[in-house]
Amino acid sequence: MTHTQNQLQKVMEATVSKQIMHLGNRSWWDGTLKTLCGLTIPDGGAEKVWFPSLSRHTPCPTCEAVHQRTSR
Ligand SMILES: [Zn+2]
Repeated sequence: MTHTQNQLQKVMEATVSKQIMHLGNRSWWDGTLKTLCGLTIPDGGAEKVWFPSLSRHTPCPTCEAVHQRTSR
Protein backbone atom coordinates (compact mmCIF):
# COMPACT_ATOMS: atom_id res chain seq x y z
CA MET A 1 0.00 0.00 0.00
CA THR A 2 3.00 2.30 0.35
CA HIS A 3 4.75 1.51 -2.89
CA THR A 4 3.62 4.72 -4.57
CA GLN A 5 4.07 6.89 -1.53
CA ASN A 6 7.80 7.36 -1.68
CA GLN A 7 7.95 10.15 -4.19
CA LEU A 8 8.81 13.35 -2.41
CA GLN A 9 6.97 16.36 -3.65
CA LYS A 10 7.85 19.97 -3.23
CA VAL A 11 4.73 21.89 -2.50
CA MET A 12 4.21 25.57 -2.37
CA GLU A 13 1.26 26.58 -0.33
CA ALA A 14 -0.12 30.04 -0.81
CA THR A 15 -0.75 31.84 2.40
CA VAL A 16 -2.10 35.28 3.11
CA SER A 17 1.01 37.32 2.55
CA LYS A 18 3.77 34.93 1.58
CA GLN A 19 4.31 31.58 0.03
CA ILE A 20 5.86 28.72 1.86
CA MET A 21 7.25 25.69 0.18
CA HIS A 22 6.67 22.46 1.99
CA LEU A 23 8.01 19.02 1.33
CA GLY A 24 5.47 16.28 1.28
CA ASN A 25 4.20 13.04 -0.11
CA ARG A 26 1.17 12.91 -2.32
CA SER A 27 -1.18 10.01 -2.01
CA TRP A 28 -2.00 9.11 -5.56
CA TRP A 29 -5.12 7.20 -4.66
CA ASP A 30 -6.93 10.09 -3.02
CA GLY A 31 -4.86 13.08 -4.03
CA THR A 32 -4.21 14.37 -0.55
CA LEU A 33 -0.78 15.67 0.21
CA LYS A 34 0.87 15.17 3.53
CA THR A 35 3.75 17.47 4.34
CA LEU A 36 6.70 16.49 6.47
CA CYS A 37 5.75 19.08 9.07
CA GLY A 38 2.39 17.44 9.55
CA LEU A 39 0.08 19.41 7.31
CA THR A 40 -2.46 17.60 5.24
CA ILE A 41 -3.39 19.40 2.07
CA PRO A 42 -6.43 18.05 0.25
CA ASP A 43 -6.40 17.60 -3.48
CA GLY A 44 -6.52 21.02 -5.06
CA GLY A 45 -5.72 22.70 -1.77
CA ALA A 46 -2.14 23.37 -2.71
CA GLU A 47 -1.56 25.95 -5.36
CA LYS A 48 0.70 23.79 -7.46
CA VAL A 49 3.63 21.51 -7.20
CA TRP A 50 6.64 23.58 -8.08
CA PHE A 51 10.27 23.10 -8.58
CA PRO A 52 11.79 25.40 -6.00
CA SER A 53 14.18 27.00 -8.45
CA LEU A 54 11.36 28.22 -10.62
CA SER A 55 9.79 30.55 -8.17
CA ARG A 56 10.48 32.55 -5.09
CA HIS A 57 9.46 30.90 -1.92
CA THR A 58 10.17 30.56 1.74
CA PRO A 59 11.16 26.99 2.50
CA CYS A 60 9.43 25.46 5.46
CA PRO A 61 12.17 24.92 8.08
CA THR A 62 10.29 22.10 9.73
CA CYS A 63 9.92 20.23 6.48
CA GLU A 64 13.60 20.65 5.70
CA ALA A 65 14.65 19.47 9.14
CA VAL A 66 12.48 16.38 8.91
CA HIS A 67 13.66 15.70 5.40
CA GLN A 68 17.31 15.85 6.41
CA ARG A 69 16.61 13.65 9.39
CA THR A 70 14.84 11.02 7.34
CA SER A 71 17.06 11.01 4.28
CA ARG A 72 19.86 8.52 4.51
ZN1 LIG B 1 6.23 22.31 6.09
